[in-house]
Amino acid sequence: MATPTRFADNVTRFMFERAAIRGALVSLDDTCREILGQHPYPPALRRVLAELLAASALLASALSFKGTLIVQLQAAGPVSLLVVECTADLGLRATAQWRDTAEALPDGAPLQVLAGDPATSRLAIMLDPKDGGPIYQGIVALEAASIATLIEHYLTTSEQVDSRLVLAADATRVRGVLLQRMPSAGPADDLAWRQVASRLDMGDAELLGATGVATLLAARFPDHDLRVVAPRAARFHCACSAERVSNALRMLGRAEVESILAEQGMVGVTCEFCSHRYSFVAADALALFAPRGGGADAPPDAARASRQ
Ligand SMILES: [Zn+2]
Repeated sequence: MATPTRFADNVTRFMFERAAIRGALVSLDDTCREILGQHPYPPALRRVLAELLAASALLASALSFKGTLIVQLQAAGPVSLLVVECTADLGLRATAQWRDTAEALPDGAPLQVLAGDPATSRLAIMLDPKDGGPIYQGIVALEAASIATLIEHYLTTSEQVDSRLVLAADATRVRGVLLQRMPSAGPADDLAWRQVASRLDMGDAELLGATGVATLLAARFPDHDLRVVAPRAARFHCACSAERVSNALRMLGRAEVESILAEQGMVGVTCEFCSHRYSFVAADALALFAPRGGGADAPPDAARASRQ
């Protein structure tokens, strides 16, 4: 085993020395608290959002992708929208929209209860290269009781990589472990995979109660030599900016902005992800529509800035 790694806000990858299996362990404490603290989320929603944060960090780490991973759950139940974004360097942000019915749901309510009718719910996993290139998108039906099962299903079917994922969250933090078969694995590795994957069956208390990465891995995989890679820090990071909000207002259109000005005398936009407020006095708001050189293409997430 390599250097003992404490649980902090990070993702730690590990490889099995004598089996074609790799894994990653995520722990989000401050990051989870900061992101969940942006809105008064109902308890059942807090848990699902925390789990989706952890799953997204593991996905971003497993996919070794340079741009931004966007995981978006759309539903017509008590929860209508969950969005988690994770950059290649593990900067995370998230937001959600919900209906009053979500307030009464117990903590731990199954995903299908939160999402409602599966016919009108879906999870989209998008990879935005952030270089103007095409956005890759995979869609999964919400036919799973938990975020862990859902993401596991996505990886196994859409990405065609046998995967096992466990997640555990409480009111302020979340942890998760992802195991995947390496692309080089063949039929001879089937037994090892089944044995190792079955070792991931553990309760929330064990995952949340573990004191460190090395201790947890040693307890779970005592018969295996593991190579543990140095952890990568994860953190709350919002990519919003005055420029992006300006682009969002341009997309909203001059007529709409003028009507807000007539009503409120200024235009205020609050970022849904980090609650930062951008204010435009009338002259600045109208100047956005003055003729200018170059394109006014807005990045995809600017469109989510909402009128307040
Ligand atoms: Zn923001």
